[in-house]
Amino acid sequence: MKSWFPVPEDTDFTIWNFPFGIYTDNHVRHRACSAIGDYIIDLFELESADVFDLNRNVFEKQFLNDFISLGKKKTNLVRNKLIELFTSENSILKKDEALLKRVLKKQSEVKMLLPVQIGDYTDFYSSIYHATNVGSMFRDPNNALLPNWKHLPVGYHGRSSSIFVSGHSFYRPKGQTKSPDKTMPEFGPCKLLDFELETAFIIGKETKQGDSIRPDEAHEYIFGMVLFNDWSARDIQTWEYQPLGPFLAKNFASTISPWIVTMEALEPFRTKGFDFNPPLLPYLQYKGDKHLDIELQVFLKTPDDTETLLCTSNQKYLYYTMEQQLAHHTVNGCPVRVGDLMASGTISGPEKHQFGSMLELTWKGTQPIQLNNGEQRKFINDHDTIIFRGKAKKGEITLGFGECISTVLPAKT
Ligand code: CA
Repeated sequence: MKSWFPVPEDTDFTIWNFPFGIYTDNHVRHRACSAIGDYIIDLFELESADVFDLNRNVFEKQFLNDFISLGKKKTNLVRNKLIELFTSENSILKKDEALLKRVLKKQSEVKMLLPVQIGDYTDFYSSIYHATNVGSMFRDPNNALLPNWKHLPVGYHGRSSSIFVSGHSFYRPKGQTKSPDKTMPEFGPCKLLDFELETAFIIGKETKQGDSIRPDEAHEYIFGMVLFNDWSARDIQTWEYQPLGPFLAKNFASTISPWIVTMEALEPFRTKGFDFNPPLLPYLQYKGDKHLDIELQVFLKTPDDTETLLCTSNQKYLYYTMEQQLAHHTVNGCPVRVGDLMASGTISGPEKHQFGSMLELTWKGTQPIQLNNGEQRKFINDHDTIIFRGKAKKGEITLGFGECISTVLPAKT
């Protein structure tokens, strides 16, 4: 499959991708778009030529929720049509230069907005390497995983009000911490600010109370995926988390990449996962390969514009798949809604350079990381920028997720 349109070789936005997002610029308040190479494709403008046979108003909403709610049959039709428009020699976009000019805008000249109105946000804890590392550090290396871990995808309910789109800055959180050598807690800016390398999926079809989704039908309910940085305040977390789990250590800011890569685009990258031992209960079992081979990278950029690669991990290191997470989430009858976001949990691999958080990379701050500008980091400093990138590749088929970027500001006084 080749495009008549010039697409840079290393782009995330290949003819196999066509993700969905929302953009704004000086002329447009908010519109749905896709992307090819260095450009966004304005879907509202494109539908002026009636290529999708949809009411074009659905592309002029602030969020993609209404578009996603049309159902996979229609949203896939839009993506398949985009593939055709950019690969067929008879494409009207190739013939009608004025239309092409109206439809395309340079990505560098638009601003991407939050793609969906996120209703509920759930965060899982599904990387066996991450859970083992954390369990070893804080409890017991010989019993790192708690007894439930290999039987169900552990998760907690997060907060959607603090999920921001890539490109934002946020204030370092403040809170209560207690050092082990003191008797009383103290209050102040978080000292151990950390990123968590995660991906997340967006719900594309609602369920009713009482309904449960089986792993083998879960793909009908998952619209697509984004990169997700689940910012964490480790010192606040250590003091507050027992017995109910994370609270203020997690809900001050999370960052998502602006492009939702569809599950259909990701289908070629399915790969075999773990053998589940002990065996899982039937409601978590599935047939076929449901893991995904997506390479994930984290970079730290200092104010002098030096970038340092912190880690390279992969979606396939998750023990539980998104399909199992969704099956578990709904097994009790909990309804899900279009736009709900469910995050993977920190994705660490088995090797040290594959650890998906500073907590693990520096082993609780005991082994600082050397940056390319000569500085060292144990955790994340004020004015540091964290960048996630994600790429999938199989033969000639490649795609990427765009970037997930956020910058830490000093605590607000
Ligand atoms: Ca997390």
